[in-house]
Amino acid sequence: MSFRARHLLGIEPLKPEAIRTILDLSEQYVALNRATHKTSDVLAGLTQINMFFENSTRTQASFEIAGKRLGADVMNMAMQASSIKKGETLIDTALTLNAMHPDLLVVRHPHSGAVNLLAEKVNCAVLNAGDGRHEHPTQALLDALTIRRAKGRIQRLTVAICGDIAHSRVARSNILLLGKMENRVRLIGPPTLIPARAADLGVEVYGDMKEGLEGADVVMMLRLQKERMDGGFIPSEREYYHRFGLDAEKLAHAKEDAIVMHPGPMNRGVEIDGTLADDINRSVIQEQVEMGVAVRMAAMELLARNLREARAAGDGTYV
Ligand code: ASP
Repeated sequence: MSFRARHLLGIEPLKPEAIRTILDLSEQYVALNRATHKTSDVLAGLTQINMFFENSTRTQASFEIAGKRLGADVMNMAMQASSIKKGETLIDTALTLNAMHPDLLVVRHPHSGAVNLLAEKVNCAVLNAGDGRHEHPTQALLDALTIRRAKGRIQRLTVAICGDIAHSRVARSNILLLGKMENRVRLIGPPTLIPARAADLGVEVYGDMKEGLEGADVVMMLRLQKERMDGGFIPSEREYYHRFGLDAEKLAHAKEDAIVMHPGPMNRGVEIDGTLADDINRSVIQEQVEMGVAVRMAAMELLARNLREARAAGDGTYV
């Protein structure tokens, strides 16, 4: 087994073999999730706490379902209404929870790096469910699983990531993963939404959709992250849609069998045409959601295995 990590904080530290291990195990969970009896006891006796300091619909639901299907005791902390509002720091909250002996902590936070910081203070395994603009590792893994199932491989593909790349942790984690697996990554968007040092990431940058999509196998659209913008990034949503919104005409420049992806939530008519998003012949957006549960089950199983082994070996930091 080549996933020996204590936490899943990002794609950056993962080796290609570790990524493959997670994807291969996820396949088993895709099958389990499609069966009538969907539960196993892989996490029985373990406590999973979901701490979402930023709103989430699909990721939180996905982690909750994943934990419950594996038999964990799952608790969702209502962070919006929590003692954070009363002034408690992230670290104090973490230490308070740590004293309750959770085994898996799933954390989303609006600040880049906050989840790594928290992981240093607790004794359990931590999964990053998205931190600021930094990383969203389970999203990149579920995207990789979706691509591998649609294309039969996760190497030597041309993947176009389009739109608001500068504010997107999804883009960052995907660029890292796709690069490690030896794919060609293109970023397409207006200069204001492309990160300043994009060239250092080993990607090609395009300012024009039709040029950038030429010959692409995968077209990954991103949401305009308005909550992370302080104005002035795009002239208007209408103009943005005209230049960067994906519609059938622009998609015609990609390969004939190119798939369309979006991590959700979607702004229909802003970054993607609604009809195209619903076209089951091109769009794999619903598969992405399905793969999300399987990937989170696999990641939690692997972390729980490492946790149990370390505890059995007497590693006090895991207690
Ligand atoms: N749901 C993804 C995230 O949390 C993408 C998005 O919000 O646009 O990063």
